[in-house]
Amino acid sequence: MADVMNYVGGGWRQASASDTLPVSDPARGEEIGRVPVSTAVDVDAAVKAASEAYPMWRATPSPERARVLFRLKALLEEHKEELAVQLTREHGKILAETRGEVQRGIENVEHACGVPTLMMGDTVEEISRGIDSASWRQPMGVFGIITPYNFPVMIPLWFWPYAVATGNTVVLKPSEQDPLTHQKIVELAEKAGLPPGVLNVVHGSRETVEAICDHPGIVGVSFVGSSNVAEIVYRRASAAGKRAQTLGGAKNYLIVLPDADMDATLDACASSIFGSTGQRCLAGSIVVGVGDAHAQIRERLLDHASSIKIGDGLEPDTQMGPVISAVHRDRVKAFIDKGVSEGAHLSLDGRDATVEGLEDGYWVGPTVFEDVSPDMSIGTEEIFGPVAAINKASTVEEAISMMHGSRYGNACSLFTTSGRAAREFRYHAGISMIGINIGVAAPMAFFPFGGSKQSFYGDLKAAGRDAVSFYTDQRVVISRWSTDPPDPHLIPKP
Ligand code: NAD
Repeated sequence: MADVMNYVGGGWRQASASDTLPVSDPARGEEIGRVPVSTAVDVDAAVKAASEAYPMWRATPSPERARVLFRLKALLEEHKEELAVQLTREHGKILAETRGEVQRGIENVEHACGVPTLMMGDTVEEISRGIDSASWRQPMGVFGIITPYNFPVMIPLWFWPYAVATGNTVVLKPSEQDPLTHQKIVELAEKAGLPPGVLNVVHGSRETVEAICDHPGIVGVSFVGSSNVAEIVYRRASAAGKRAQTLGGAKNYLIVLPDADMDATLDACASSIFGSTGQRCLAGSIVVGVGDAHAQIRERLLDHASSIKIGDGLEPDTQMGPVISAVHRDRVKAFIDKGVSEGAHLSLDGRDATVEGLEDGYWVGPTVFEDVSPDMSIGTEEIFGPVAAINKASTVEEAISMMHGSRYGNACSLFTTSGRAAREFRYHAGISMIGINIGVAAPMAFFPFGGSKQSFYGDLKAAGRDAVSFYTDQRVVISRWSTDPPDPHLIPKP
C-alpha cells in the first residue's frame, strides 16, 4: 500500500489534510494506495517553495536548465519498462499502451531540451531613425498544472518540462485516481539534478484545484480534464488574473468514405474506439460510413469488437483493460442503459463483461450502438468508455454537418484514398486536431495539442511552440543610443 506524499521544496511531506482517497488497481478492484486531499494550506506551502526557488532558477542559464532535462530524458529511457508496468497497475490500460504513453511523455522532455533555441526573441535594427527594437521571452514565476487520470505520465509531461525549461517553477496537482507513477518521475527529476522547489507536487481534488486557481502567488494555470471542469477552472483562474489554458472533453467523429482502404480503416477505427478502453480524449466515438462504406465498416467493426479479449493489462494476450474505477464503470453502463431506453439499437452489449479470476475488476466490454440520433445522450455526451456508435450518411457533407452538431471539437478523422477529399475535409472540418487515415489524431510534441469549441478554453495550446509562448511573456525593448542615423562612410566595408 502506497501512502502518497506531497513533494515540496525538494522533500516528501505529509499533507496537512486528514482526508484521503483510495488509489485502486482497476483490474483487481483492490486498493493499492491512499492519496491526501491537500488543502489551501498545503498549496500555499508549495507556492512558497516554488516562489523561493524562482529567482535562482530563472538566473540559471537556459542551456544548464536544458541539461537537467537531457539527464531526465536518459533516466526516463532507463526506467521506461518499470514506469509502464506501474502505470498499467494503477490505470489498467495494457502494457503496449502504457509503453506508448511513457514514450510520448519522453518526446515532450526531448522537445523542451531545445529551450535555448525555442526561447529566442526577435530583433529589428533601425526600426526607426536611430532606434532598435528587440523582444525577449522571459519566464513569469510560479505556474499551476492540473492533470486528469487518463494519461497520468504523459499529460503532466505536456506541461511541466516546458514550464521549468523556460525558467519558471511549478506546482503540479496530478489526478487523485492514479498518482503513483508520476511520483517515480519526480524522483527521477530530482536525480537528474532539478533543484529543490523548482517542481512541487500537491495531491488532492476539487478543493486543491480551487486553491491553485485562487492563489495570488500563481501566475498561470494549465489544466486538462472534462469540459465542465475545464470551463470552471478557466473562469476561476482568469477571474484571479492568471493566464489559463484548459483542455476539456471530446466526442470525436471518424468518417469513412467508400474509397477508403477498409482493412487499414478498420484497424485505425478499432484502436481509436477501444484503445485505452475508450478513455482517451482522442478516442473515436461516432463512426459515420458514407454511402457504401457504411455496410463495409459496420460488418468489420462488429466482427472485430466482438473478438476483443479483455483482461489484466499485464498479460501479453490482453487486448483491452478495465476502466479506471467502479464509479466510472457504473457511469459507462448507465450511458448504455440510457442509449437503449432512448431507442438506439444495441448491436453489441458490453455491460455483462467479466474476467475469470478477476471478477472484482472494473470491466466494461466493447459496446456498439446503431441508429444513434443527435438528440440522444449517447450521441452527444462524452461517455469515455469502449462504446461506439455506427451511423450512416449519404454524402460527406452530411457526415460533416452531423459532426458540426457536436458541442465538442477536439479531434476528427477522415478515411479515404482521395487527396482532394482529404484537402476539403481539412478546410471544412473546423476542428483543431484532424486525422487523415489516422484514427487517433495526436499531434506529436513539436506541434500544439488542444481542441476547439467546448473542448478547449484559452488560446495557447499544450506542447509545441505554444508551450513556450504560454510559459513566457514577451518583453519588448525599444532603444536609442544616438539621435543620428548610422553614417555609412564611417564604417569600413568588410
Ligand atoms: P476531471 O475533470 O474529473 O478531473 C481533471 C482534474 O480536475 C483532476 O486533477 C481533478 O482532481 C480535478 N477536478 C475534478 N473535479 C473538479 C472540480 N469540480 N473542480 C476543480 N477541479 C476538479 O477529468 P478526469 O476524469 O480525470 O479525466 C478525463 C477527462 O479529461 C475526459 O473528459 C477527457 O476527455 C479529458 N481529457 C482531455 C484531454 C484533451 O487534450 N483535451 C486530454 C486528456 C483527457
